[in-house]
Amino acid sequence: MNMSQHPVTDQPRVGVSACLLGQPVRYDGKDKNCMNVQSLTPCCELVPVCPEVGMGLPVPRPPIQVWQSGDALGLRQVENPAVELAPQLQDWYQRLNLLWHTLDGFVLKSRSPSCGHGSTPLHDISGEPVAVGDGLFVTLLRAGFPYMPLIDEVSLQNSAARKAFMRQVIAHYQQRIKGAGMHREQKTQDKPGNA
Ligand code: SF4
Repeated sequence: MNMSQHPVTDQPRVGVSACLLGQPVRYDGKDKNCMNVQSLTPCCELVPVCPEVGMGLPVPRPPIQVWQSGDALGLRQVENPAVELAPQLQDWYQRLNLLWHTLDGFVLKSRSPSCGHGSTPLHDISGEPVAVGDGLFVTLLRAGFPYMPLIDEVSLQNSAARKAFMRQVIAHYQQRIKGAGMHREQKTQDKPGNA
């Protein structure tokens, strides 16, 4: 693991679904600007991320949905279910692996097939909604970073949930910075002449 994975920053860094920060990246070309999310900025650096634009989809774009069948999970166009997008999303997610290591939390857009956190409609093979769960990006993020604090813009409106999220973000940041410090110390000790 190199230092770029643990940059020393003077504030926690929180990923945010880019549409919540006013970026017009949604499937319909609009945004979901949320002042409640913007108001986190005095305490942390907000890092906008849009998985669907990141994976190469255009704006606007055909709506997509999450499907599941047994253990299998995918992401496909609603109108043309033959268009399977999960591999594209997974490639993008892996390409940004270094970025995920620099984040201390994530504020997510509720109900999105990519960004939803426990609020995304899941469909069966025939397209019928059968359950509610995580969007595909969040499924990957939770698997890779089980200790990263996550919240959506709806829960963020609740003052107790917001305070708990920020406490978790700060704790995660302190651990990350500690890890970076230990890594730097180790590198200094490893230098020739420091034995
Ligand atoms: S919910 Fe996520 S994928 Fe959808 S537009 Fe917002 S940032 Fe992009």
